Amino acid sequence: MKIASRVNQVPPYLFVQISRKIAEKKAQGVDVISFGIGDPDLATPREILDGLFDASEIQGNHRYPETEGLPEFRVAVAEWYKDRFGIQFDPEKEVLSLIGAKEGIGHAALSFVEPRDIALVPDPGYPVYSVGTLFAGGESHFLPLNSENNWLPDFSKIPDEISKKATVLWINYPNNPTGAIADLEFFEDVVKFAKKNDIAVMHDNCYSEVTFDGYKPPSFFEVDGSKDIGLEFHSLSKTYNMTGWRIGMVVGNPDLIEALMIVKSNLDSGVSQAIQNMGIAALKLPEQYISDRNKIYQKRRDSIIEVLTSIGLEVEKTKASLYIWAKIPEGFTSGELCEIVLDQTGIVFTPGLGYGANGEGYVRLSITIDDSDLQSALDRLNDWTPPWNI
Ligand code: PLP
Repeated sequence: MKIASRVNQVPPYLFVQISRKIAEKKAQGVDVISFGIGDPDLATPREILDGLFDASEIQGNHRYPETEGLPEFRVAVAEWYKDRFGIQFDPEKEVLSLIGAKEGIGHAALSFVEPRDIALVPDPGYPVYSVGTLFAGGESHFLPLNSENNWLPDFSKIPDEISKKATVLWINYPNNPTGAIADLEFFEDVVKFAKKNDIAVMHDNCYSEVTFDGYKPPSFFEVDGSKDIGLEFHSLSKTYNMTGWRIGMVVGNPDLIEALMIVKSNLDSGVSQAIQNMGIAALKLPEQYISDRNKIYQKRRDSIIEVLTSIGLEVEKTKASLYIWAKIPEGFTSGELCEIVLDQTGIVFTPGLGYGANGEGYVRLSITIDDSDLQSALDRLNDWTPPWNI
């Protein structure tokens, strides 16, 4: 049987490899504690779950949903954007529901990239931007992010012939995996660059509500001209601990929304209506829920950073996202370091290389680990003498 070549070109999904390694260790009887995937350990709030049983009894919810999402869900998204960022969107033409941001990101590539087109993709970055591009037959031109440029792409370094062939630019702040943030000045540069080169901007704002030290990330749409050229992806996964329910949304330019809608309506049938009802309840939760939840994460962030620093890793204090991005000592690749840590402590870090060539030299730790496992992991790391400290 023939397997399409695009399937074989995809590097194995990072977390599948990590899950395999964890399974091997567990089979050997090791009590593995994982800082791997950014999947909130905290429960979906009660207020979101409450309506689910009743929604399951409504017969209309047993049938296909509309791909674009329930009108009430799209109105709730528009209202949330107005309250949170002060920006107005037309719920009919400028908002779509998604089966999680990942689905929207994958389908965006099919909507905006043709064979041999170029997508500008951050490196390191969330792998779906480049894999979606590959599936669409396009080519990723990687934009190096590093600590010297504050993990922001430098548009002046992109060769003109690349910018001219590019149809899409992916950006993501607060950033996975680095935890970096961007300000409105950066978004203004993005709009200038994208307009000059006729490029559609896809801003992945999944982590806008996971923040620390009082920081509030902006929306890309807070800058003038952004709606002429952009989309912004959001996920209820991280904001409301809803990864398992699969719901997110995208807002922005109506022509881009319509194109994405055409692709989606031919390939998926939207988000279960009962789950959209949960999404509406989520978007109406008081701000207090978010700030209380962020206090839990902030405490974890601080204790993890303290221990990582004590074992010789260099860490900048993340202001947002679910991740700690730690520079590793010279003399090890990120893969080697992760293997050493797993073998000697039973703890899983993610190698930075999994997010792109520029992720080498770093490891990523997710703070979505429950407090008792976290304490055990920190105790183990505290008691451990890493080979670079010998
Ligand atoms: N975008 C980024 C940057 C992510 O890190 C993730 C998940 O880890 C997603 C999108 C996917 O989110 P969702 O659960 O809504 O599909």
